[in-house]
Amino acid sequence: MRILIIEDEIPLGEGLATFFRRKGYEALWAPSGVEGLRLAAQSRPDLVVLDIMLPGMDGWEVCRRLRAASAVPIIMLTGKGAQEDVNTGLELGADDYVKKPFDFHELELRVAAVLRRAENGVSETALFDDGVLRVDLARRSVSARSQLIHLTPTEFRLLACLVRHRGRAVPHAELLREVWGPEYAQDTPNLQVYVRYLREKVEPDPARPQYVLTEWGVGYRFGG
Ligand code: CA
Repeated sequence: MRILIIEDEIPLGEGLATFFRRKGYEALWAPSGVEGLRLAAQSRPDLVVLDIMLPGMDGWEVCRRLRAASAVPIIMLTGKGAQEDVNTGLELGADDYVKKPFDFHELELRVAAVLRRAENGVSETALFDDGVLRVDLARRSVSARSQLIHLTPTEFRLLACLVRHRGRAVPHAELLREVWGPEYAQDTPNLQVYVRYLREKVEPDPARPQYVLTEWGVGYRFGG
């Protein structure tokens, strides 16, 4: 498995590359976004570890461009406690994120999990399209039967979170944490309100949802 690390801090970039090589991966390291994109095009990595704070082209732009070119899994390295970063990254189609400072072993676990999901064919690709509903996470656009649907930022984040985790029930607390932030993890009534808004916009028949499904006692699951 080939991992591309895009990180401008030299000790961290080199350290990660060495760490992953010891773990049996083929690891490439790029110190800038431009160099990272070049290496990605050239070497077709199985996964990209992408820092957000990069000189010149930042991690967001790199993520957008990677997504435009392929469905390669992306794990973003975000600033400490930057929930906005996490939300933006996930909306841009990143598969997971790790907050700095992080433990290399924690990152390796995330890498292994994302690669496993990608191998199982349930990769959290940035696009869902079943011919009726189309959710494009990279472009942040949602349409039903080719008609654009206007979602508020919160509705979009909620839908994006469900689509990213499609195939599994996402617990209430996890949705609340990812969409609203860690301090809202208990606010299930608010989540239910937004689920109702979302269903009214994306479901052909909101009374009998086929996309935003209730998993009783657990949370919600994207049923596309
Ligand atoms: Ca950096």
